[in-house]
Amino acid sequence: MKNGISGHTRVCGIFGYPIGHSFSPAMHNAAFSALGLDFVYVPFLVEPGNLPAAVEAVKTLGLAGVNITIPHKQAALPLLDEVTEAAKLIGAVNTIVNRSGRLLGDNTDGAGFLRSLEETTGFAPADKTVLMLGAGGAARAVAIQLALAGVKKVFLINRSRERAEILAAQIAGKTTAKVEVVPWPDGKNKQCLREMLRGAELVVQSTPLGMYPEEVLTVPLPDNIFRPGQVVCDLVYNPGETLFLKNARHAGATTVNGLGMLLYQGVLAFELWTGMSAPVAVMRKALTDSVC
Ligand code: NAP
Repeated sequence: MKNGISGHTRVCGIFGYPIGHSFSPAMHNAAFSALGLDFVYVPFLVEPGNLPAAVEAVKTLGLAGVNITIPHKQAALPLLDEVTEAAKLIGAVNTIVNRSGRLLGDNTDGAGFLRSLEETTGFAPADKTVLMLGAGGAARAVAIQLALAGVKKVFLINRSRERAEILAAQIAGKTTAKVEVVPWPDGKNKQCLREMLRGAELVVQSTPLGMYPEEVLTVPLPDNIFRPGQVVCDLVYNPGETLFLKNARHAGATTVNGLGMLLYQGVLAFELWTGMSAPVAVMRKALTDSVC
């Protein structure tokens, strides 16, 4: 936004509950400002019961688009005119684009993760073996996007096995990836799992374990699971290096934290709303300044 808000300013935003913690306003407003675009990005506190009215308001108020965050990502999906294939498979949307009164839903979380991974490590998913820890919303987006990008095999480990089984069935039913649900590591099975899991070329930690302020926590993986040549990601970005990533780095693996995923899901949303290339460095700086 160059000269403040006017009658021409396009409005984007984010619907969530709560919403005060979001870093997206800082990231998007910095990007609009850097490109001199007459856009503004506003956080909207939307109570769950009000989601249908809020989504309708994207049309009635003529918003350019919005992000959708917790707890609305799944509930927003059936409220839209059109939904991308990836969002349908993931079962959740994080971005809505207003195309002349028709609302398109997309999910840029998984694609943002992939773009971050490719940019920082050069990792190419095709024919690779992946170990996913967790089977919640973020894991779904990442695992399905990796499967769509051609990974050969996905090992899924989740505290509640049932949730992992549901995700596994969906990946196996809709993509060419093979999937195996592995029990949550405990004292008895830990070392049996070691050989199987050490073969993974990519490991993605997608539980909140190790997130500030409980930085001492980590997934109880077997010893010596990390190795040089492996890429290890943690979707957590605060702290910048979790205990999980620290262990992986000490074992010689290449490590990536969750900041890149957060950045690139925003970059992709920005590009959908404006049709322009996003100023990635500006957005990264705004995010880093907000998180630290
Ligand atoms: P979610 O849908 O609530 O899923 C949480 C997952 O973590 C589930 O698989 C859950 O297992 C597991 N879990 C939770 N507490 C656990 C514990 N104490 N021990 C073992 N497993 C536990 O949450 P989400 O949206 O997927 O988010 C997960 C993490 O990803 C959060 O830390 C979030 O900040 C991060 N995230 C990062 C980005 C990014 O852009 N970098 C984006 C989204 C999320 P059960 O199924 O057994 O409950």
